Parts: sequence; structure tokens; C-alpha cells
Amino acid sequence: MEHWFTPWRGSYVSSARSEADCILCSISRSRSDRENLVLLRAAENYILVNRFPYNNGHLMIVPYRHCAFLEELEPTARGEMIELAALCEKALRSAYRPEGLNLGINLGRIAGAGIDEHLHLHILPRWSGDTNFMTVVGGTRIIPEETGATYERLEPLLREGRGDAKK
Ligand SMILES: [Zn+2]
Repeated sequence: MEHWFTPWRGSYVSSARSEADCILCSISRSRSDRENLVLLRAAENYILVNRFPYNNGHLMIVPYRHCAFLEELEPTARGEMIELAALCEKALRSAYRPEGLNLGINLGRIAGAGIDEHLHLHILPRWSGDTNFMTVVGGTRIIPEETGATYERLEPLLREGRGDAKK
């Protein structure tokens, strides 16, 4: 795939500028984790099922801190982000058996960020040929699995992977 950063362009299209009207901050403040598709809350980041996935199992790791660039994040938050990415990788490989995974952060709208004021790490399982069947036809994406089903599949695996008895 030549342009692997482009799929999630426009995932969440937002004109939010501040924390007050930022969708990712609003999800992090909310307590309705299942409804919002928040899979897991760690100390400085949470794991979210992308509501507008480009493939089965499209996840996002989001820092609680509202900031646009990695350099603004605390080193502990950056470190935890990668630890959570490893956890997601393991759960996705187990649940979906992908042939590969893309991990990416789009910094700035020109780089493809749908929400450019609150950075987040995308984790996208990949299969050979998925770019073909995912092709946008008549403005409709073909998503084989409901995001709710993705949530149900991954939530126990992530919890297990983290060694939590209960969330
Ligand atoms: Zn935010």
C-alpha cells in the first residue's frame, strides 16, 4: 500500500480547537466507556475503537492530555503509549490474525489528522488485498464488522493481557 497514512484521514472530522470542544477530551471525561468504545483506561492514555474504522480492529491510543505534538507529552505518557501499543498488537494478532499492522500518528491536518489538536496513535490491522475491498465505492466504505463487535472481542483480551482481574 503506497499511502498508508491516508486511510484514516477524516476519521473524526472536527473543527475543535480547544479542550472544551474536543471529542477525544470529551470521551476521556465521560464515564460511558462501553458506549464510547473505550476499551481500556491506563494511567495516562486510553484505548479506543475507532468509530469510523478503515479495517476490522482499527484502534486508537489517546493521551488524556490535550496536546497536538509528541514533544508536549510527558515522557511517561509517551512511554505508556508504546506499552499500550504492544498490548493492542498482541490482542489484535490474537483476535484477528492480521498479516501485518500499521501504527501511525498524523501530526497536523496536512499529514492526515482528522483531529489535529489532540494527537493519537492509530493501530490498524492489515491483510493482503484489504486496500482493494476497502476502496470507497460511491462514498460508502465496506466495513465487515460492527465496532460494537470489535469492542466485545478485544476488551477481554486487553484486560487479560494487562493482568487485570476486573476493569
Ligand atoms: Zn482534546
